[in-house]
Amino acid sequence: MKPIYFDHAATTSVDKRVFEAMKEFFHISYGNASSLHTFGRKARTGMDKSREIIANMINAKDSEIYFTSSGTESDNLAVKGIAYAYRDKGEHIITSMVEHHAVLNTCEFLESNGFKVTYLPVNKYGMVDPSDVKKSINKKTILVSIMHANNEVGTINDISEIGKITRENEILFHSDAVQTFGKLPIDVKGIGVDLLTISGHKIYGPKGVGALYVRRGIKIQPLLHGGSHERNKRAGTENIPGIVGLGKAAEIRAEEMGSEFKYLSELEDYFRTNLYETIDNIKFNGHPEEKLPGYLNMSFSGIEGESLLLSLDLEGIAVATGSACSSGSSEPSHVLEAMGLSPETVQSSIRISLGKQNTREDIDYALSVFPKVIKRLKELSSVSF
Ligand SMILES: *Cc1c(COP(=O)(O)O)cnc(C)c1O
Repeated sequence: MKPIYFDHAATTSVDKRVFEAMKEFFHISYGNASSLHTFGRKARTGMDKSREIIANMINAKDSEIYFTSSGTESDNLAVKGIAYAYRDKGEHIITSMVEHHAVLNTCEFLESNGFKVTYLPVNKYGMVDPSDVKKSINKKTILVSIMHANNEVGTINDISEIGKITRENEILFHSDAVQTFGKLPIDVKGIGVDLLTISGHKIYGPKGVGALYVRRGIKIQPLLHGGSHERNKRAGTENIPGIVGLGKAAEIRAEEMGSEFKYLSELEDYFRTNLYETIDNIKFNGHPEEKLPGYLNMSFSGIEGESLLLSLDLEGIAVATGSACSSGSSEPSHVLEAMGLSPETVQSSIRISLGKQNTREDIDYALSVFPKVIKRLKELSSVSF
């Protein structure tokens, strides 16, 4: 049986149409986009087209999109870039306890360099209360960075409401939209977001490419110094195949996001209902409604999430514990901790994130494997105690 991939929040396979679109830029139009000859101009045209697609999708101007090497780099560029460009105005940043480590660890780095950071708590569903943002603002606040949707539980934040607050207080607002770009419609002007992070490989595009929207007129301190690429904001010869792939992936998402939302919601409902009926003491984490479809974060009492992951893998089913970045180090999930789950419950959690290639048959197979694996793990743990 073909292995089943249930880890789309960690990464996705490259869509065949994306791969096809990229090929030309490896071995035919391989010029340096800064070169004035035909090879260079072809590369630039490919890049410009991607910029236009992405800008249109979020209601931005082409000149407000900067390509980077990843969602991680975009988060770093947004948070450090604003911190250092606006340090004379203040040194206070507001973020949340459930951000991706690309934001959290950047904020910790800034703290070690004299900045003050407020890490807002979340409710039991993993959601930031916009009124907490309001209460935390002081005269020194320069930036609010709150993610659009969380990568571990799929909970969607009310970023329009947060945008309203930051706008009223004339504070810059960055949102990490890696999990939502191409899955939910985003209108940066409507939301009132000033900087927005995008990544390619979570939306059936290639790894190692991302983008940052920066509203016109906003200063950012570059992270990389060198040539004048990306209007002096991001030096380094552009990854044209990757950028073309990101643009193509975005274009496909724009067409398919509506139907995929519905498809994944149905698959998720089917999976959830059946798991709930067949497994005792299962607990689902995350918001019941304000969430991305296809995310099932769940805790199984008395079972180690990591043992469950490994047992499922032996049965050909790929799932995750916590976030992909922290699972290697087996750190407990900071997201589930912030949601108030007990340490035992956090340890007993796994995340399933469905994607467009998953079928009803995949889920039926998983539903046949889960009770078996859980029963075995329960027996093992009762022996060891
Ligand atoms: C995956 C992810 C990132 C990091 O993006 P990369 O392109 O893998 O560096 C940042 N934020 C969120 C919410 C993510 O899910």
